[in-house]
Amino acid sequence: MDNKKVQFVSVNLPLLDGREEEYLLKCIRTGWISSEGPYVREFEDSFSSKIGCRFGIAVCNGTAALELAVRALGIGPGDEVILPTFTIISCAAAIVRVGATPVVVDADPKTWNMDVSQIEAKITSNTKAIMPVHIYGLPVDMDPLLDVASRHQLKVIEDAAEAHGLKYKGRNCGTFGNLSIFSFYPNKLITTGEGGMILTDDEMLAERCKSLRNLCFQIERRFVHEELGYNYRMTNLQAALGCAQLEQWDRFLERKQKMGRLYTQLLKDIQGIELPLPQTGYADNGFWVYGIVLDESTGMDAAEMMGRLGELKIGTRPFFWPMHRQPVFEKLGFFQNESYPVAERLARQGLYIPSGLGLTEEQMESVVKKLREILG
Ligand SMILES: *Cc1c(COP(=O)(O)O)cnc(C)c1O
Repeated sequence: MDNKKVQFVSVNLPLLDGREEEYLLKCIRTGWISSEGPYVREFEDSFSSKIGCRFGIAVCNGTAALELAVRALGIGPGDEVILPTFTIISCAAAIVRVGATPVVVDADPKTWNMDVSQIEAKITSNTKAIMPVHIYGLPVDMDPLLDVASRHQLKVIEDAAEAHGLKYKGRNCGTFGNLSIFSFYPNKLITTGEGGMILTDDEMLAERCKSLRNLCFQIERRFVHEELGYNYRMTNLQAALGCAQLEQWDRFLERKQKMGRLYTQLLKDIQGIELPLPQTGYADNGFWVYGIVLDESTGMDAAEMMGRLGELKIGTRPFFWPMHRQPVFEKLGFFQNESYPVAERLARQGLYIPSGLGLTEEQMESVVKKLREILG
């Protein structure tokens, strides 16, 4: 085959083949493009009722959703929030931005989620909340976490950005937090281009989030502010995409899980790589992305493997870089001399292979073939 014609297999290609175009055109034709448009409410209502929460507050991205959640709970200077070190910067950043202190626990070597058995030892009189994050499509073991939270009267901020439609013991992810958040970035199961949502059953918290999202404008005296908020609103254009995506949610989830099973089938006899758990005692893997962890016996780390796959036109992403190893947090004086060996190993040896909904079976087979070649 002519090498120049070999298409790059991108790490993520979204599927926009439903009514996205129709709904977007409707926004343009009606002139409703701002956050005041009708799709925003429709998206909030459909999404929150699908997950099973009373209130949904749509925002401009998942990071903003985390920031509002932390703010809405009144967390601030002197407070501590416990979260996994193996996660995205957005989680710890939301805590640091309000002047609070992030306190981390290591990952579980098999599930890659936070090791919930390490939480209790990290609780102090300053701890205000726990922030579980469902990593790469496998839910966190919530029962022990919720038990610790209730015994110590801590709030729970659930980051379900990678867990659309996933269940823990039959109950939807996104219903476990006092506030739960989702992201709709294009690599997420449901996308709005950029977007996020906060879910809660607590009316007061919902009102707090709505106000903070909208610059804390007041109803009676619009341009007089008691508090500083943010402009984190979602536009009608984004919500229009979201409404079209929601119609395909079940199909998308089935497809991801089918892709996960196929990759597992194709990869399972390759020596030297560890695959994601297809299920645990409490949840099935939704395979939001398909991660692999290279054994040290391969003599390769993730960076080298990513380079080799890139030369063969296969897109990849590294695993998360742990929060306790972030230069920005070291400079701020957090996590001094702390070490979390599981997360450090995942960061060094882990990567994910193309996992977007637009990927074909042939592409998946070719990804595996190249992995096999590289690993000899
Ligand atoms: C994507 C993601 C976010 C952030 O969402 P954005 O919409 O990209 O800001 C937060 N948490 C987790 C776990 C994510 O995967």
